[in-house]
Amino acid sequence: MKKKMILSVDTGIDDALAIAYAIGQQEMELIGITVSYGMSIVENTYRNTKKLVELLGAQVPVYMGSAVPIVRPGRDYKLAGSKIHGQDGMANQFGDYEPEDVAGAVVEESVDYIIDSIHTYGKDLVLVTTGPMTDLARVITKEPGILDQIGAVYSMVGALAAPGNVNPYKEANAGMDPEAVKLVLETEPPLTVIGLDVTRKTLMSFADLKRWQAIGTGRSDFLAKLVEYYLDAYRVMHPYLKGCALHDPLAVGAALHPEWITTIPMHLTCVTEGEADGRTCENLEKCDDTDYHTCGALFVDSAAFEENFFETVENVLAGQAGA
Ligand code: CA
Repeated sequence: MKKKMILSVDTGIDDALAIAYAIGQQEMELIGITVSYGMSIVENTYRNTKKLVELLGAQVPVYMGSAVPIVRPGRDYKLAGSKIHGQDGMANQFGDYEPEDVAGAVVEESVDYIIDSIHTYGKDLVLVTTGPMTDLARVITKEPGILDQIGAVYSMVGALAAPGNVNPYKEANAGMDPEAVKLVLETEPPLTVIGLDVTRKTLMSFADLKRWQAIGTGRSDFLAKLVEYYLDAYRVMHPYLKGCALHDPLAVGAALHPEWITTIPMHLTCVTEGEADGRTCENLEKCDDTDYHTCGALFVDSAAFEENFFETVENVLAGQAGA
Protein backbone atom coordinates (compact mmCIF):
# COMPACT_ATOMS: atom_id res chain seq x y z
CA MET A 1 0.00 0.00 0.00
CA LYS A 2 1.25 3.47 -0.85
CA LYS A 3 2.08 5.81 2.02
CA LYS A 4 -0.20 8.83 2.41
CA MET A 5 1.15 12.37 2.12
CA ILE A 6 -0.24 15.63 3.49
CA LEU A 7 1.40 18.74 2.12
CA SER A 8 1.29 21.87 4.32
CA VAL A 9 2.04 25.01 2.31
CA ASP A 10 1.78 28.82 2.28
CA THR A 11 1.54 29.22 -1.51
CA GLY A 12 3.96 30.97 -2.65
CA ILE A 13 5.77 30.32 -5.93
CA ASP A 14 8.05 27.53 -4.77
CA ASP A 15 5.08 26.00 -2.90
CA ALA A 16 3.32 25.96 -6.29
CA LEU A 17 6.24 23.96 -7.68
CA ALA A 18 6.12 21.62 -4.66
CA ILE A 19 2.36 21.12 -5.19
CA ALA A 20 2.87 20.28 -8.88
CA TYR A 21 5.60 17.80 -7.91
CA ALA A 22 3.45 16.19 -5.18
CA ILE A 23 0.51 15.90 -7.58
CA GLY A 24 2.62 14.35 -10.33
CA GLN A 25 4.62 11.83 -8.32
CA GLN A 26 3.42 8.25 -8.09
CA GLU A 27 5.25 7.00 -4.98
CA MET A 28 2.79 8.28 -2.34
CA GLU A 29 -0.90 9.16 -2.27
CA LEU A 30 -1.38 12.91 -1.78
CA ILE A 31 -4.49 12.90 0.43
CA GLY A 32 -4.75 16.59 1.33
CA ILE A 33 -3.15 20.02 1.31
CA THR A 34 -3.30 22.48 4.20
CA VAL A 35 -2.53 26.17 3.68
CA SER A 36 -1.54 28.79 6.25
CA TYR A 37 -0.60 32.45 6.02
CA GLY A 38 2.97 32.96 4.86
CA MET A 39 3.75 34.20 1.37
CA SER A 40 0.53 36.27 1.59
CA ILE A 41 -2.53 36.48 3.89
CA VAL A 42 -4.20 33.10 4.43
CA GLU A 43 -7.21 33.97 2.26
CA ASN A 44 -4.86 34.57 -0.69
CA THR A 45 -2.63 31.54 -0.08
CA TYR A 46 -5.72 29.32 0.27
CA ARG A 47 -7.22 30.73 -2.95
CA ASN A 48 -3.83 30.31 -4.71
CA THR A 49 -3.69 26.66 -3.70
CA LYS A 50 -7.28 25.85 -4.69
CA LYS A 51 -6.83 27.47 -8.10
CA LEU A 52 -3.54 25.72 -8.69
CA VAL A 53 -4.90 22.28 -7.77
CA GLU A 54 -7.79 22.87 -10.17
CA LEU A 55 -5.49 24.07 -12.96
CA LEU A 56 -3.35 20.97 -12.55
CA GLY A 57 -6.40 18.72 -12.82
CA ALA A 58 -6.03 17.13 -9.39
CA GLN A 59 -8.80 16.02 -7.00
CA VAL A 60 -7.08 16.87 -3.72
CA PRO A 61 -8.96 18.52 -0.83
CA VAL A 62 -7.53 21.82 0.46
CA TYR A 63 -7.90 22.93 4.10
CA MET A 64 -7.39 26.45 5.44
CA GLY A 65 -4.70 26.82 8.09
CA SER A 66 -3.58 29.49 10.53
CA ALA A 67 -4.00 33.19 9.81
CA VAL A 68 -1.43 34.39 12.37
CA PRO A 69 1.60 33.03 14.33
CA ILE A 70 1.07 31.35 17.72
CA VAL A 71 2.42 34.27 19.81
CA ARG A 72 3.50 37.21 17.67
CA PRO A 73 1.11 39.51 15.83
CA GLY A 74 0.57 38.79 12.14
CA ARG A 75 2.60 40.65 9.58
CA ASP A 76 1.07 43.65 7.79
CA TYR A 77 1.17 42.41 4.20
CA LYS A 78 0.03 45.78 2.88
CA LEU A 79 3.32 47.22 4.12
CA ALA A 80 5.50 44.21 3.38
CA GLY A 81 4.49 42.43 0.19
CA SER A 82 6.93 39.80 -0.99
CA LYS A 83 9.44 40.97 -3.59
CA ILE A 84 10.10 37.34 -4.47
CA HIS A 85 6.53 35.97 -4.63
CA GLY A 86 4.41 39.09 -5.33
CA GLN A 87 1.82 40.69 -3.05
CA ASP A 88 -0.63 37.81 -3.68
CA GLY A 89 2.05 35.10 -3.46
CA MET A 90 1.48 34.29 -7.15
CA ALA A 91 3.60 36.87 -9.00
CA ASN A 92 0.57 39.25 -8.84
CA GLN A 93 -1.32 37.10 -11.36
CA PHE A 94 -4.36 36.65 -9.08
CA GLY A 95 -4.50 39.85 -6.99
CA ASP A 96 -6.64 40.05 -3.83
CA TYR A 97 -9.05 37.20 -3.07
CA GLU A 98 -12.80 37.53 -3.55
CA PRO A 99 -15.24 36.29 -0.86
CA GLU A 100 -16.30 33.34 -3.08
CA ASP A 101 -12.65 32.19 -3.22
CA VAL A 102 -12.76 31.28 0.47
CA ALA A 103 -16.44 30.27 0.79
CA GLY A 104 -16.80 27.38 3.23
CA ALA A 105 -13.20 27.53 4.46
CA VAL A 106 -12.54 28.00 8.19
CA VAL A 107 -9.28 29.33 9.64
CA GLU A 108 -7.32 26.50 11.39
CA GLU A 109 -9.56 23.71 10.03
CA SER A 110 -6.18 22.27 9.00
CA VAL A 111 -5.36 21.46 12.65
CA ASP A 112 -8.19 18.94 13.11
CA TYR A 113 -7.59 17.58 9.61
CA ILE A 114 -3.96 16.78 10.43
CA ILE A 115 -4.88 15.30 13.84
CA ASP A 116 -7.65 13.14 12.33
CA SER A 117 -5.33 11.96 9.54
CA ILE A 118 -2.66 10.90 12.06
CA HIS A 119 -5.30 8.92 13.97
CA THR A 120 -6.44 7.28 10.73
CA TYR A 121 -3.11 6.50 9.06
CA GLY A 122 -0.50 6.57 11.85
CA LYS A 123 2.92 5.44 10.64
CA ASP A 124 1.64 5.28 7.05
CA LEU A 125 1.30 9.07 7.02
CA VAL A 126 4.06 11.46 5.94
CA LEU A 127 3.66 15.19 6.47
CA VAL A 128 5.62 17.65 4.35
CA THR A 129 5.68 21.31 5.46
CA THR A 130 6.88 24.16 3.26
CA GLY A 131 5.64 27.19 5.20
CA PRO A 132 5.61 28.54 8.76
CA MET A 133 5.37 25.87 11.49
CA THR A 134 2.32 27.51 13.04
CA ASP A 135 -0.21 24.79 12.14
CA LEU A 136 2.07 22.02 13.36
CA ALA A 137 2.59 23.85 16.66
CA ARG A 138 -1.20 24.13 17.04
CA VAL A 139 -1.54 20.39 16.34
CA ILE A 140 0.89 19.66 19.21
CA THR A 141 -0.83 22.14 21.53
CA LYS A 142 -4.24 20.62 20.83
CA GLU A 143 -3.08 17.02 21.18
CA PRO A 144 0.33 16.75 22.88
CA GLY A 145 2.32 13.68 21.88
CA ILE A 146 0.35 13.04 18.70
CA LEU A 147 3.33 13.51 16.41
CA ASP A 148 4.94 10.42 17.97
CA GLN A 149 2.32 8.46 16.03
CA ILE A 150 3.10 9.87 12.56
CA GLY A 151 5.39 8.11 10.06
CA ALA A 152 7.64 11.06 9.29
CA VAL A 153 7.70 14.84 8.91
CA TYR A 154 9.88 16.63 6.34
CA SER A 155 10.04 20.38 6.84
CA MET A 156 11.54 23.08 4.67
CA VAL A 157 12.60 25.26 7.56
CA GLY A 158 15.71 26.85 9.00
CA ALA A 159 19.39 26.90 8.30
CA LEU A 160 21.74 24.77 10.42
CA ALA A 161 25.25 25.35 9.09
CA ALA A 162 24.24 27.69 6.25
CA PRO A 163 23.49 31.40 6.70
CA GLY A 164 19.82 32.47 6.65
CA ASN A 165 18.05 34.15 3.74
CA VAL A 166 16.24 36.88 5.70
CA ASN A 167 19.37 37.85 7.61
CA PRO A 168 22.55 35.92 8.51
CA TYR A 169 20.61 33.93 11.16
CA LYS A 170 17.07 33.65 9.94
CA GLU A 171 15.51 31.49 7.21
CA ALA A 172 12.14 32.80 5.97
CA ASN A 173 9.84 29.98 7.19
CA ALA A 174 11.50 29.85 10.61
CA GLY A 175 11.42 33.64 10.85
CA MET A 176 7.65 33.85 10.37
CA ASP A 177 6.94 32.03 13.64
CA PRO A 178 10.06 31.23 15.70
CA GLU A 179 8.01 30.24 18.78
CA ALA A 180 6.19 27.62 16.70
CA VAL A 181 9.47 26.24 15.34
CA LYS A 182 10.89 26.06 18.87
CA LEU A 183 7.80 24.25 20.17
CA VAL A 184 7.77 21.73 17.31
CA LEU A 185 11.50 20.99 17.31
CA GLU A 186 11.75 20.66 21.10
CA THR A 187 8.84 18.19 21.04
CA GLU A 188 11.19 15.97 19.02
CA PRO A 189 8.81 14.43 16.50
CA PRO A 190 10.26 12.12 13.81
CA LEU A 191 11.13 15.22 11.78
CA THR A 192 13.85 15.98 9.25
CA VAL A 193 14.85 19.61 8.80
CA ILE A 194 15.27 20.33 5.09
CA GLY A 195 16.90 23.73 5.54
CA LEU A 196 18.88 26.11 3.39
CA ASP A 197 21.89 23.81 3.94
CA VAL A 198 20.42 21.53 1.27
CA THR A 199 17.77 23.56 -0.57
CA ARG A 200 20.35 26.13 -1.74
CA LYS A 201 22.19 23.29 -3.47
CA THR A 202 19.21 22.73 -5.81
CA LEU A 203 18.60 24.84 -8.88
CA MET A 204 16.05 25.81 -11.49
CA SER A 205 17.86 27.76 -14.20
CA PHE A 206 16.77 30.06 -17.02
CA ALA A 207 17.33 27.10 -19.40
CA ASP A 208 14.84 25.03 -17.38
CA LEU A 209 12.36 27.93 -17.62
CA LYS A 210 12.75 28.05 -21.42
CA ARG A 211 11.86 24.35 -21.56
CA TRP A 212 8.66 25.00 -19.55
CA GLN A 213 7.76 27.97 -21.75
CA ALA A 214 7.98 25.69 -24.79
CA ILE A 215 5.54 23.05 -23.44
CA GLY A 216 2.61 25.16 -24.61
CA THR A 217 -0.27 24.22 -22.29
CA GLY A 218 -2.31 26.46 -19.98
CA ARG A 219 -0.61 24.75 -17.04
CA SER A 220 2.90 25.30 -18.36
CA ASP A 221 2.19 28.92 -19.31
CA PHE A 222 0.94 29.67 -15.78
CA LEU A 223 3.80 27.94 -13.94
CA ALA A 224 6.36 29.47 -16.33
CA LYS A 225 5.01 32.97 -15.56
CA LEU A 226 5.42 32.29 -11.83
CA VAL A 227 8.95 31.00 -12.25
CA GLU A 228 9.94 33.87 -14.54
CA TYR A 229 8.90 36.36 -11.85
CA TYR A 230 10.75 34.31 -9.22
CA LEU A 231 13.91 34.01 -11.32
CA ASP A 232 13.93 37.76 -12.00
CA ALA A 233 13.77 38.41 -8.24
CA TYR A 234 16.52 35.87 -7.60
CA ARG A 235 18.71 37.45 -10.29
CA VAL A 236 18.65 40.70 -8.29
CA MET A 237 18.67 39.32 -4.72
CA HIS A 238 20.75 36.14 -4.98
CA PRO A 239 22.84 36.51 -8.18
CA TYR A 240 25.37 33.87 -7.06
CA LEU A 241 22.76 31.11 -7.56
CA LYS A 242 22.42 31.50 -11.37
CA GLY A 243 18.73 30.63 -11.13
CA CYS A 244 16.40 29.91 -8.22
CA ALA A 245 16.69 27.33 -5.48
CA LEU A 246 14.00 24.65 -5.33
CA HIS A 247 13.44 25.10 -1.58
CA ASP A 248 9.92 23.75 -1.12
CA PRO A 249 10.06 21.04 -3.81
CA LEU A 250 13.10 19.50 -2.10
CA ALA A 251 11.04 18.83 1.04
CA VAL A 252 8.66 16.77 -1.12
CA GLY A 253 11.64 15.08 -2.81
CA ALA A 254 13.23 14.16 0.53
CA ALA A 255 9.94 12.62 1.70
CA LEU A 256 9.70 10.51 -1.47
CA HIS A 257 13.40 9.57 -1.59
CA PRO A 258 15.13 9.94 1.80
CA GLU A 259 18.19 8.34 0.20
CA TRP A 260 18.81 11.61 -1.70
CA ILE A 261 19.69 13.47 1.51
CA THR A 262 22.38 12.94 4.12
CA THR A 263 21.18 13.66 7.64
CA ILE A 264 22.67 13.98 11.09
CA PRO A 265 20.68 13.16 14.25
CA MET A 266 20.28 16.37 16.23
CA HIS A 267 18.32 17.83 19.13
CA LEU A 268 17.12 21.09 17.66
CA THR A 269 15.54 24.33 18.80
CA CYS A 270 14.87 27.84 17.49
CA VAL A 271 16.13 31.10 18.99
CA THR A 272 13.19 33.41 19.83
CA GLU A 273 14.89 36.65 20.90
CA GLY A 274 17.81 38.95 20.28
CA GLU A 275 20.02 39.28 17.23
CA ALA A 276 19.75 35.57 16.34
CA ASP A 277 15.92 35.52 16.55
CA GLY A 278 14.65 32.82 14.17
CA ARG A 279 17.89 30.86 14.07
CA THR A 280 17.52 27.06 14.11
CA CYS A 281 20.34 25.33 15.97
CA GLU A 282 21.29 22.51 18.33
CA ASN A 283 19.42 22.44 21.63
CA LEU A 284 22.19 22.76 24.24
CA GLU A 285 19.84 21.56 27.00
CA LYS A 286 20.08 18.09 25.46
CA CYS A 287 23.82 17.78 24.89
CA ASP A 288 24.01 14.55 26.89
CA ASP A 289 20.81 12.96 25.54
CA THR A 290 21.61 10.20 23.04
CA ASP A 291 17.97 9.41 22.18
CA TYR A 292 17.41 11.27 18.90
CA HIS A 293 14.14 11.65 16.97
CA THR A 294 14.84 14.70 14.82
CA CYS A 295 17.60 15.18 12.32
CA GLY A 296 19.01 17.83 10.04
CA ALA A 297 19.79 17.35 6.34
CA LEU A 298 23.25 18.64 5.50
CA PHE A 299 23.90 17.21 2.04
CA VAL A 300 21.75 16.37 -0.99
CA ASP A 301 22.16 14.44 -4.22
CA SER A 302 20.98 17.45 -6.24
CA ALA A 303 21.29 15.72 -9.61
CA ALA A 304 19.05 12.79 -8.62
CA PHE A 305 16.47 15.14 -7.13
CA GLU A 306 16.47 17.61 -10.02
CA GLU A 307 16.13 14.87 -12.65
CA ASN A 308 13.08 13.42 -10.87
CA PHE A 309 11.57 16.84 -10.12
CA PHE A 310 11.76 18.14 -13.68
CA GLU A 311 10.57 14.90 -15.27
CA THR A 312 7.60 14.65 -12.87
CA VAL A 313 6.53 18.29 -13.08
CA GLU A 314 6.97 18.50 -16.85
CA ASN A 315 4.64 15.50 -17.24
CA VAL A 316 2.05 17.37 -15.16
CA LEU A 317 2.54 20.58 -17.16
CA ALA A 318 2.15 18.69 -20.44
CA GLY A 319 -1.15 17.33 -19.13
CA GLN A 320 0.03 13.73 -19.02
CA ALA A 321 -0.26 13.19 -15.28
CA GLY A 322 -2.16 14.47 -12.28
CA ALA A 323 -3.61 12.88 -9.17
CA1 CA B 1 6.60 28.07 1.16
